[in-house]
Amino acid sequence: MQQMIYNTLSGKKEEFKTLEPGVVKMYLCGPTVYDFLHIGNFRGPIVFNLIRNWLEHIGNKVEFAYNYTDVDDKIIKKAMDEGVDSSEITKRYIAEFEKDFNDLGLKAHEHNPRVTDHMDDIIQMIEGIIANGKAYVVDGEVFFEIDKFEGYGKLSKKKLDELNAGERVDVDKRKRNPFDFVLWKPAKPGEPSWDSPWGKGRPGWHIECSAMNKAIFGDSIDIHGGGVDLQFPHHENEIAQSEACNCKQYATFWVHNEFINFGAEKMSKSLGNIITARNFNEKYHPEILKYLYLSAHYRTQMAVTDDKLLQTISALNRIYSAIELAQSTIEMVSEPGVPDKKFESQLQQLDDKIEKALKDDFNSAILISEIFEAVRMFNGFGFANKQKRNINHKGQSEQFLGWINKYGKMSALFNEDPKTLLARMDEILITMRNIDVEKVKSLVAKRTEARNAKNWEQADQIRDELAEMGVELFDGSQRGWRVKVNE
Ligand code: AMP
Ligand code: ZN
Repeated sequence: MQQMIYNTLSGKKEEFKTLEPGVVKMYLCGPTVYDFLHIGNFRGPIVFNLIRNWLEHIGNKVEFAYNYTDVDDKIIKKAMDEGVDSSEITKRYIAEFEKDFNDLGLKAHEHNPRVTDHMDDIIQMIEGIIANGKAYVVDGEVFFEIDKFEGYGKLSKKKLDELNAGERVDVDKRKRNPFDFVLWKPAKPGEPSWDSPWGKGRPGWHIECSAMNKAIFGDSIDIHGGGVDLQFPHHENEIAQSEACNCKQYATFWVHNEFINFGAEKMSKSLGNIITARNFNEKYHPEILKYLYLSAHYRTQMAVTDDKLLQTISALNRIYSAIELAQSTIEMVSEPGVPDKKFESQLQQLDDKIEKALKDDFNSAILISEIFEAVRMFNGFGFANKQKRNINHKGQSEQFLGWINKYGKMSALFNEDPKTLLARMDEILITMRNIDVEKVKSLVAKRTEARNAKNWEQADQIRDELAEMGVELFDGSQRGWRVKVNE
């Protein structure tokens, strides 16, 4: 079965072939480091973490680069506001990003290049573009001349004449085409700057990714990723710069993840409706974010709503309860477990379905639903009576854990201690549902009294009252009750 990937460049799914057999060079545009990142920014890292792990699982060696943009107007503004050096801002927010990234338990990238470490590469690349006649210098400023690059618009499918039609009044008159873009700009007083053949200045945004790519991987890479918002102009301009300089195709596959919306709105800073990954991880749990994102295909928009969060918590509760059951069964039975042949072949069938889905443009929604199917099968084995767990149950538990851990590693899920995670999910539900825990405790105690006194009617009444509060009585949990989630 071939690996298929949707390529924005061609607008269709194509068979994935690498430039060098068995080696994948992959670059994902990373953040501008001037603030905490919001949860939308982490869709890329979470999705591409699965992509890299899957491509490795099917036999490739993946080299993954994710950059930090540490030269930018927003960084300079923040530094000025705080009266500190830009490098202090970028150092701070790279550290904050790394904390969020580690909390999410994603695999470290092979390369995390920073723009400030690649000034020589950037300057050399601009010189190369000028030498090839595709950029011009005006007053210490270097512009890319899009009319000289034939393929301009091939990624975003924008036509040059259409672009020209949208000519704006405030266009810089020094530009030969209003859509010519800056490769190098002169520094204003007080801004960070670097020496260059065109005077002291700093690079434009787009050239950074092209130059860091070239420095790390050479002229061409296999996969270039980013959010859909980056298709134009950022990625279109990256293609123009790299191909104008190197005279080779830049990236074979362009892979773009759709946006995360919050409630009904697109998540963005200007709308002020963002939730940072830090707040999310504290208020909820990193596991919830990863599971939620992977439960949809990366090319669909997703809204993060309370309902979605509740569904995710409910799903994680089911899966972690099964993991806990499997772990405790293995502990409980001292003799070696006996594998279940039928279960083995059922799991194999799920493997086949997952392979088909992930080879069909990384359809992680199916991966998640097949994991759920494995849980359903496992729960069907009849573990109800603790005393009766035997070597067969142990065998099934080992098979189940081995299977789920395989996909857990791939997707950075299911690596938490189940008891701790389940207790945390419960706390989250209590908060989300505004449940008065003291009141629940006293009702539960009253119900126990009623039952002891064989007052069944009162006991039932209390149970109904609890149900109305969103609480169900549940023997399997330590305190005898849990918050109900509609599945
Ligand atoms: P920025 O710092 O705004 O350039 O964004 C860094 C990365 O996050 C880029 O790859 C963006 O495409 C991506 N991104 C920004 N906002 C969202 C969102 N709401 N949903 C998904 N990805 C996003
Ligand atoms: Zn980029």
